[in-house]
Amino acid sequence: TMAFSEKEAALAAAPSDAPTVFDKIIQKEIPADVVFEDDKVLAFRDISPKAPTHIVIIPKVRDGLTGLSQAEERHCDILGYLMYVAKLVAKQEGLSDGFRIVINDGPSGCQSVYHLHIHLLGGRQMNWPPG
Ligand code: C5P
Repeated sequence: TMAFSEKEAALAAAPSDAPTVFDKIIQKEIPADVVFEDDKVLAFRDISPKAPTHIVIIPKVRDGLTGLSQAEERHCDILGYLMYVAKLVAKQEGLSDGFRIVINDGPSGCQSVYHLHIHLLGGRQMNWPPG
């Protein structure tokens, strides 16, 4: 039988440069429960939450960042800013006792949307190692 991690990887989408559902969320073509927005980033509640608080934080301009594995030196500013926004949103959400941030990358990382994003998870005890 297939190992769980292999099954998860098989369920994840193939890497692609095509537009994603996040473009539609950025353009407000499909609704999202936005918790933070400025000119550079958007943060919204995950439609399929894996914790009481589960927020997805994305750059508004993808600029080749389909995933972290595609990062180039020009992306350093936005990558750092996304981390900072994760902290701001964690505070805004009242996660004063701690939280988890996750970046899934590629099929083995179980990435499903090829527009770089940080998951912010909290409101329950996290476990280690993750699944
Ligand atoms: O890391 P991964 O690529 O799997 O994360 C994509 C996330 O985007 C998923 O957690 C999924 O639930 C979320 N999503 C969403 N709203 C959509 C489509 C996907 O919150 N319309």
